[in-house]
Amino acid sequence: MNSYQQVVNTGSQPPTVYDQKYIDFVDNVLKEVADDFEREKKFSDQNLLKLHKLFDGVFERALDLYEQQRVTQISTSNAIITEPCKRVNEASWLMQVKGHSGALYTLFPEINYCTCAAFRHQVLTDRSAFTCKHVLATWLASIDKEKLLHQQLTQKQFNNLLLYQASNK
Ligand SMILES: [Zn+2]
Repeated sequence: MNSYQQVVNTGSQPPTVYDQKYIDFVDNVLKEVADDFEREKKFSDQNLLKLHKLFDGVFERALDLYEQQRVTQISTSNAIITEPCKRVNEASWLMQVKGHSGALYTLFPEINYCTCAAFRHQVLTDRSAFTCKHVLATWLASIDKEKLLHQQLTQKQFNNLLLYQASNK
């Protein structure tokens, strides 16, 4: 192996900061914050600080998107669905986040995946971030539904969106 190959190989192996242990840790923090919200009907300053420490600027931008009412739950129901999603392949709703540029990002509930450029670069390629602001904004909106918008589709429209989303994953 020459030195060029070595550099290439090192570069193609990003640091595995986000291993299963870390994912479980993040899941636990999110669950705790959600449980606290359930009890206190608000995000405590302590929890906001915790999320800020965990996600840094991504959290700030997510909070912004949420507070500006840019998160919409899309379903065939005439009201916001509040019960948790049972199974991923049976999503009864999708979340849509309208970015500041006006672009729409459609996300599956409870899945850490987004089609935006930041997710592709910082999460999948560099691994410098755990998630993107759209995923976090969706999470915030699914806990505190006060600013969550709602859009009702016909079954056919919803199926088409689901199909389109699945083929783009
Ligand atoms: Zn995103």
